[in-house]
This record gives sequence, C-alpha cells and structure tokens, in this order.
Amino acid sequence: MDNKVLGLIELLDKLPIPMYGISDISELPELKNKFTRAISLAQAYSYTLDDYSSTGFNDFLLGKVKGELEQSIEIIEQFLQKENIAYRTIGNVQKDPVLSIGEFSHKYAAVKSGLGWIGKNGLLITKKYGPRVRLSTILIDLELPYNNQDEYNGCKECNACVNICPTKCLKGTIWNSSLQREDIIDVFNCKDKNETRKEYMCGLCLVACPIGKASSSDNKMIFTKSRD
Ligand code: SF4
Ligand code: SF4
Repeated sequence: MDNKVLGLIELLDKLPIPMYGISDISELPELKNKFTRAISLAQAYSYTLDDYSSTGFNDFLLGKVKGELEQSIEIIEQFLQKENIAYRTIGNVQKDPVLSIGEFSHKYAAVKSGLGWIGKNGLLITKKYGPRVRLSTILIDLELPYNNQDEYNGCKECNACVNICPTKCLKGTIWNSSLQREDIIDVFNCKDKNETRKEYMCGLCLVACPIGKASSSDNKMIFTKSRD
C-alpha cells in the first residue's frame, strides 16, 4: 500500500474519533477529477432524555462535541497539507439555508461508508451509538481503501422518534437509498430547521432513539475506537 495511504489510515486509527468510514465518491459527477474518497468522521457522545433541555443540548453539541471533532480535523488537515494531498473539509454551515441543503451530504457519505443507516428521524443511526454522533466529512484525492456496504435498516417497528416529535413532521418512513428527504421528514416544520432558531436545538427525535442509548451517568465522550 502507498505510504501516504498507510500514513493516513494510521493517523485515523490513532485519533480520538470513535468511528470513521471511507467511501468511494469518484463517480459523483460534481466531484469527478477532483476528489476520489470521502472520509466520514463520527464523534460519538452520550446524551439521554434525562439530561435533556433544548439549550443544554445545543451547548453540549456545539461546545464540547464540536470542539473535539474540530481538533481531530485540524490534525488530519495538517497531515494532508504536509503530504500535498488535495482535500476539502465539508463544513456544517448550510449552503442554502432557505432549502436547508448543505454543500455535500455528510449522511450520504456516512451511509455509503458503512457507518449506519438513515433513521425515521432523518439522522444517521449507527449500531453502536445510535444517532449520538456528530458528523464531519473530508473529501480527498487519494485512493484509500473503501467500504461497499449493503443497505441495512435497523429501525424496524420502532417509532420513538416519530411519536415524540412536537411538530409531527416525521412521516414514519423506513428509509432506503431510493427515497428523498421529503419522504422522511417535512423539514420546514422541524423546529431545528426553523430560521428563527437561535441557540436552541430541539433534537428530541435524537435523544429519544433507543439505539446505542447509554445511561445518564455516562454523559461524556466515548473514545472506543471502532470501525463497525
Ligand atoms: S428536531 Fe424536533 S421538531 Fe425536528 S424532527 Fe426532531 S423532534 Fe421533530
Ligand atoms: S427512534 Fe426508533 S425509529 Fe427513530 S431512528 Fe431511532 S430506531 Fe429508528
């Protein structure tokens, strides 16, 4: 294996990011001849309904969890610059706030890399941490080995997120890759996408998810390395 590939994988394995996945994006028309792989980074955390308050959840996610993820991204970027590898880090700011669309779908790359599936709440659900992961994506031009994950959906009969949603904007749809966002969620009725939101995050459909749920006493970052 190429030294740059080995070096990058070794670095990803060492960083305090509990899960990462690599997907092949070389066939995406808008990225053709620019980037070949997407590295999906999933910073896991524990947060339960017992801990919940909307502003508290906002501060937790945008403070501690975001900060931890950004530190790891900075280290990866330094490596990519040193090795002269072309890359683009995808931010979390929406490219089109009116349509609520980002510059590149973190969830698309994460599912493709095998990190999880899209739940009835429209979020990435991982087997180990459920939706309690903050995602980031780095597009790179380097032939890293990648996953080719079979489509899987673990939501089954559960409807916890659908039932708890205060605006009833979740449609209870079992996701598959042929569906559009609108089949899962009426995004313009979701409190989290409301343009007037300031230092407020609903997130009830996330904290209610039973998958990967940790005890309320375990409200801290989890640094178990995993690529399952
Ligand atoms: S963030 Fe809140 S309003 Fe939006 S889908 Fe989830 S529970 Fe419903
Ligand atoms: S709460 Fe249940 S239905 Fe909703 S995403 Fe989690 S597992 Fe799927």
